[in-house]
Amino acid sequence: MLLSQKVGGAIWRARDLVAPKAIVLLYHRIADTEIDPHQLCVSPRHFAEQLTVLKQRYTPLSLPQCVDAMRQGRLPRHVVVITFDDGYADNLHAAKPLLERHEFPATLFITTGQINNPREFWWDELEKVLLLSGPLPQHLELEVNGHTHHWDIDVASLPARRHELYQTVHKLLRGLPSVQRTATMDALLKWSGAALEARPPYRTLTTEELAVLVKTSLIDIGGHTVTHPLLPEQELAVQREEISGGKIALEQMIGRPVHDFSYPYGFYANPTIELVRQAGYSGACTCIERATRCESDPFQLPRFMVRDWDGDEFTKRLHACVRNG
Ligand SMILES: [Zn+2]
Repeated sequence: MLLSQKVGGAIWRARDLVAPKAIVLLYHRIADTEIDPHQLCVSPRHFAEQLTVLKQRYTPLSLPQCVDAMRQGRLPRHVVVITFDDGYADNLHAAKPLLERHEFPATLFITTGQINNPREFWWDELEKVLLLSGPLPQHLELEVNGHTHHWDIDVASLPARRHELYQTVHKLLRGLPSVQRTATMDALLKWSGAALEARPPYRTLTTEELAVLVKTSLIDIGGHTVTHPLLPEQELAVQREEISGGKIALEQMIGRPVHDFSYPYGFYANPTIELVRQAGYSGACTCIERATRCESDPFQLPRFMVRDWDGDEFTKRLHACVRNG
């Protein structure tokens, strides 16, 4: 390697280190839970600690403000953006008061089919069936995509066996069209004897609760499809209906346009991006964990998923994200 190449590389790395970056944070729920297999919950105490850290060290921007700044090439340094996926009721009852206390804006990405839905998200129902219900029948048989799967529930190895089964069935169901997924969950609920109604802490928003959020100046609402499918696994017509249909339904619910989208589970492919663009969205968030820069694609915005960390651990993780991103 020539000396000039070495010097050039060092200058590029130095520029990279000081280049303005934003960290877009991904939250799902602010709640204390007994069990959390996908680490979707941050306790209210830890969320308050995290907001204190952010307020001291970072510049809060809303997602639309951040995307505007990126497009103009004027992203300030140390920007942080808060987003929530899915539309749990705790976003209103637990997150909003803390966001307001710290004057932090946030974008909430809403799955429209869950608004007013008396049932939980399918992954929470699966958790209720396999991880939290009482003794289960000895044998489970599920037909998924034309294949019949059998499991013997080994009582002696509980709860490890139940966690293993949960992960296996979750992977099988995640890519299914929503009608099949719901039918499978109906069968699983019946098999286990678990209640159909949502447990109160796992409830999703009602239209009245969504209306309260819409009136909050710090809150923006974004789209997250109708039924939370794994988009790249669905036919294009289904993807279009989930993306465009979800946008239209959400705009009717809240009485104003929505501009930003979040890919369910963070999964997307090139046709999915194009459908999001065609639907009239101006940007979309992924689950790729890195910092956002001026040159980042607004339709593939990285996000850093926040776990139930206290303030000290959160500080370390943010520094690592900025340094490595
Ligand atoms: Zn989601």
